[in-house]
Amino acid sequence: MKSIMIVDDIPANVRLLGDLLQRAGYEVRPTTSPIRALEAAQTAAPDLFLLDVNMPELNGFDLCLQLKKNPDLAEIPVIFISALNEKEDILNGFHVGGVDYITKPFNSQEVLARVRTHIELQQRRQEVEILRQRDVAHYLDLLKLKDDVLRMVSHDLKNPLSIISGFAELVDEMIALDDMNPVDAREMLSQIRKASQRMLQFITDLLDTVRLEGHINLQLFPLQLDLFLQEVADELLFNHMRDPQKLRYEPGAGKARVQLDSGRFEQVIQNLVSNAYKYSTAEATITIRTRVEEGYAVVEIVDTGFGIPAADLPFLFDKFYRVQAAQYVQKPGTGLGLTIVQSIVGQHNGRIHVSSVEGEGSTFSILIPIAPE
Ligand code: ADP
Repeated sequence: MKSIMIVDDIPANVRLLGDLLQRAGYEVRPTTSPIRALEAAQTAAPDLFLLDVNMPELNGFDLCLQLKKNPDLAEIPVIFISALNEKEDILNGFHVGGVDYITKPFNSQEVLARVRTHIELQQRRQEVEILRQRDVAHYLDLLKLKDDVLRMVSHDLKNPLSIISGFAELVDEMIALDDMNPVDAREMLSQIRKASQRMLQFITDLLDTVRLEGHINLQLFPLQLDLFLQEVADELLFNHMRDPQKLRYEPGAGKARVQLDSGRFEQVIQNLVSNAYKYSTAEATITIRTRVEEGYAVVEIVDTGFGIPAADLPFLFDKFYRVQAAQYVQKPGTGLGLTIVQSIVGQHNGRIHVSSVEGEGSTFSILIPIAPE
């Protein structure tokens, strides 16, 4: 309900206007003292002021000037109450920041029309302001994104490209001088291959991030989670010839089924497991385990690797965010993997969170609603 503060030293006027506005559905805050009105407005701002011009304690114009000085009250519309013959008053009222006036004796229809108009105008102004602030926030986000992308492009594309062109030139020169040693050549080609893989990963991640921001169409099917993850784990072990002592799978969700886009969900698990490998020492172990908890199937990827400093945890899923300590940045990466993972999990109506202790390891937990039988 919109509230109107009426300030007039004549109680009969306050009562008359108060009754009229109350009947029209407004909350009325009447007062005969401008000083008290100022204090009350500072405590809880109304949506509109009706101020009498001639009051002995503090006249309406001065009260209006006081209101306009307070940033919390300055935007609230002020309508002056003036006697019909006081044309000077009306001009002065606009001068000190009033938006309108009503004249005594009151014409009910006119009072209501003026009040309604200014309350509505104010509401529109507030809505426009909210939209404007949203635009500004969005614009600042885009600026930050642009800076991040430029920084990452110059680092993640320029560096590997200069490696590729540097080694290509070297190979060219060696061939021209007939001084090509096969061991050196293989080493150079391997550097070229690694650099191009890094570029490819970066571009794939970047495109994925952009694509996932617009809603992609997932192909969701109810799948038995434990069976699905068994295949993913087998493939991870097989493709990467990884040590089963290092990567373990501990299914615990029984026959629980969840709606999955198998390709995208596999990408999530691969991403988390590959992070667990990347941010670990050789001795660390990685476990994929599942369980059921209050209507959700929970998948956890647990590692005994580097862990994550507590200060970095709140930002981990932000675009391009990487822990800046040396042992983390030495590893290749774009800081986009977890953004992509979070977005895919969100599109499965799930959520993901991380708990971690630096020096001990990390647990990434994904919760997906169990599909009804
Ligand atoms: P990337 O690995 O490409 O840098 P991610 O978005 O996948 O990007 O991860 C963001 C950052 O979170 C990483 O750079 C790393 O600092 C940290 N991180 C992610 N997973 C782990 C993990 N399992 N253990 C320790 N740190 C991790």
